[in-house]
Amino acid sequence: MTTAITLDQTASTLDDNLAQPYMVHGTDISGRLVRLGSAIDDIVTVHDYPAPIAALLSEAAALAAAMASSLKFEGKLILQTQSDGPVGMLVADVTTDGALRGYAQFNEADYSALSMHDFRSLVGKGYIAFTVDQGQYTERYQGIVDLSGANLAECIQHYFHQSDQVDMTVRVAADRDSAGKWRAGAILAQRLPEIGGEGEVSDGAAARDAWDRALAFINSVQPDELTDADLPTETLLYRLFHEDGVRVSDRQALRHACQCSEDRLKTVLLSLSAEELADCFIDGVVSSTCEFCNTTYVFKPEDLAVTLQ
Ligand SMILES: [Zn+2]
Repeated sequence: MTTAITLDQTASTLDDNLAQPYMVHGTDISGRLVRLGSAIDDIVTVHDYPAPIAALLSEAAALAAAMASSLKFEGKLILQTQSDGPVGMLVADVTTDGALRGYAQFNEADYSALSMHDFRSLVGKGYIAFTVDQGQYTERYQGIVDLSGANLAECIQHYFHQSDQVDMTVRVAADRDSAGKWRAGAILAQRLPEIGGEGEVSDGAAARDAWDRALAFINSVQPDELTDADLPTETLLYRLFHEDGVRVSDRQALRHACQCSEDRLKTVLLSLSAEELADCFIDGVVSSTCEFCNTTYVFKPEDLAVTLQ
C-alpha cells in the first residue's frame, strides 16, 4: 500500500527514529529516507565519544539503517570499518525489526595528536565491510570495499559502482541539535529496473534521464535537511521529487536496542573449557562489558557452577 504525497500532506505529524520507503512516480527509482533522533543519541551518549567520532558513528548507523531497510532479508545488517587511523573500528548493526546499535574503537593518544578531524584523518586507510547475517544455518553475505571516499557515504557508493549491481546514491549527515542531542539522517536512492517501478518507464533514455534528475535532487540535499527534527520527512521528499511525484509506503520504526544479555553471555562462558573459564576469573569474578551498550555483567563462581582452586 503506497500513498502519494501531496502538498497539503507535507505538514503531517512529525515522527522520528524511522526509515521511510519512497518511490518516485513513473520511474524505476525508489529509496529510503532515514531519520534518527533519540535512537542515535542513546547510542552515542553511553560512550561519551569526542564529537567527531560521535558524528562518524552516527553516520555509520544511519547508513546501516538505510541499507538494511532497502534490502529484502530477515536478520541483521552489520556495517564495519577497520582501518589504521586513530578510529580503528566503527561498527553499526541493525536488525530487520529495527533494533540499532553501534560503537567505535579509537586510540586516545593518536586522536589527541590530530590537528584535523575530517574523515580521512580520523580513519586513515582500511576497508568497510557490509555483512548480511540471516542467522544460524544460512550463509552470510559480505561485501568489502576500500575506505577510499571522502566520507562514509562515498565509500558505500564506490562499493555499488564497483560491484555494478544497481545505480545507487546515498547522502548522510549527523550533528547535534540546539539541545546538544545527537541526530542523524540519510537518504538513499536506487534504480531497480528489474522490478520496473510503477511500470511507466518507456525506454532506457527516459529512465536514464529520470535517474540523472534524481541524482541532482539528492545531491542538492543539505546536511541540516537530513537531520532537522522540524522538517517532516514527507516535506523533504516532496521538496525533492514533486516534479515527478513521490509515493511513500509504511515507515519502519528504529530504536536503540542491544542484543546482549546475561543469559547469552553465560552460554558463551559455559561453552569454554574448564581451564579457559578459570582464566576468565579476575579477583574471584568474571566481569564483561558489552562494547555496544556498555552494560557490565558480573558472574560469581557459583553463577557458572565453577569451583575456584
Ligand atoms: Zn549490549
